[in-house]
Amino acid sequence: MSQSLSPRQLRSFRVELEELLAEAPAPGAPGGEACRNALARLDAGVFGVCSVCGEFIELNRLVASPTETLCLSCRTAPQRRHERE
Ligand SMILES: [Zn+2]
Repeated sequence: MSQSLSPRQLRSFRVELEELLAEAPAPGAPGGEACRNALARLDAGVFGVCSVCGEFIELNRLVASPTETLCLSCRTAPQRRHERE
């Protein structure tokens, strides 16, 4: 099961991240870094892809937190595990 983000969705995430970044307290602050990383992933075309397993992150979780880098199963997994079938 996978989903990809439309260009329109990517654009709105970019706007939101740029706003978050503009509000970030200082360069190097954790929030700012998370936003910068997310924008870098947007530029690289891998935004919304889990950094552990490579699956798409659930859209509702990205909407809630655009800086999310893990899918739900990786986020909730007790430790990194490969469960491929
Ligand atoms: Zn994952």
